[in-house]
Amino acid sequence: MRRITAALLLIALIALPGCAADEPVVVSREALGTVVSITAYGEDEAAVRTAIDDAFAVMAEIGAPLDVYEPLSDISAFNERPYTAQPLPPYARDVLDAIDELEVADAFSPALYSVTRLYDFEGAQTVPAEADIALALTAADGFVQQEPEHGLFARLKDPDPRLEPGGSLAPGLDLGGAAKGLALDFARESLRANDAVTAALISSGSSTVTLGAKPDGSVWRVGIEDPRDFSRVIAVVGFEGDGALSTSGDYQRYFEAGGERYHHILDPTNGLPARGVRSLTVAGSSLSGLDSDILSTALFVRGPERATRYAAEHGVALVVVDDEGRTLVVPAPEGSGLTVAEDSVETD
Ligand code: ADP
Ligand code: MG
Repeated sequence: MRRITAALLLIALIALPGCAADEPVVVSREALGTVVSITAYGEDEAAVRTAIDDAFAVMAEIGAPLDVYEPLSDISAFNERPYTAQPLPPYARDVLDAIDELEVADAFSPALYSVTRLYDFEGAQTVPAEADIALALTAADGFVQQEPEHGLFARLKDPDPRLEPGGSLAPGLDLGGAAKGLALDFARESLRANDAVTAALISSGSSTVTLGAKPDGSVWRVGIEDPRDFSRVIAVVGFEGDGALSTSGDYQRYFEAGGERYHHILDPTNGLPARGVRSLTVAGSSLSGLDSDILSTALFVRGPERATRYAAEHGVALVVVDDEGRTLVVPAPEGSGLTVAEDSVETD
């Protein structure tokens, strides 16, 4: 429900008046486990609508194999036999390569399935036992690639009877922190390849990618919501052309227990919800959706100090709200086609 609110907020923002001469087609649909909206420009409205339909189809095709909540998905099949060397689920290789290239393997783990499911955000919402977390973490640590050139992936350690597939501490891959960004990239390429579309924006709420420049020359505007007051926008990122933006927040999936907030971004070093950040947004004109999705999770885990250093060193924009509610901004490099404006706009 919260994600749906975020998606609607975004649609409200990008539909601000000022482009009356050339109205975009805007289509919002359930996809990737949330609501995705596509805003696309082009002369021929019917052809633009067809292009949008095709992009939604591509998105579903990319997202489906990586859906750990779908028992029949490729990743679920993989997780049923995690101790057996077997081909990676489709596109998992793209995610693993991006983690390496971005140099965030310490903070973004593709094999946290055993740990993330201990929290059961949609169900029991009980704080996991320390011993269970420790055991589950050994599974996350045990996944090693074998013969990467053949796409094989295996758990090298001897199977541990306490970590049984299907059991409460089932080991496995969980690429949920990257799959949406990846799917948005493929959808964007589908729109790019279609002559009917001159410019577009695709948003899943937590991740957004842009394609080309809007026909009236104005920038794409993407609002970042206040993590404790969704009616407030704390900053607006403007994209001149291609770019990507992702937000990870402690308010997207969480429960409270003993005065503490247990949310879905976990620190792979201790299996606990990462502390120190309420929301973290990364944006860059040269980032892919996949990169930005991985980075928002990884930099959230690393915390405000290391995140701001990473952003400055890698030339990506960053907006962090820390655990005391302070907003820290690392602007995009000058001339990179991206601006960050701190704002405090009330929506309703
Ligand atoms: P969203 O679901 O809004 O895209 P994120 O991109 O931040 O949010 O991804 C959060 C999901 O990523 C979690 O639900 C969990 O499945 C997974 N995850 C949580 N912590 C990590 C981590 N440190 N490394 C990799 N994946 C993680
Ligand atoms: Mg992410």
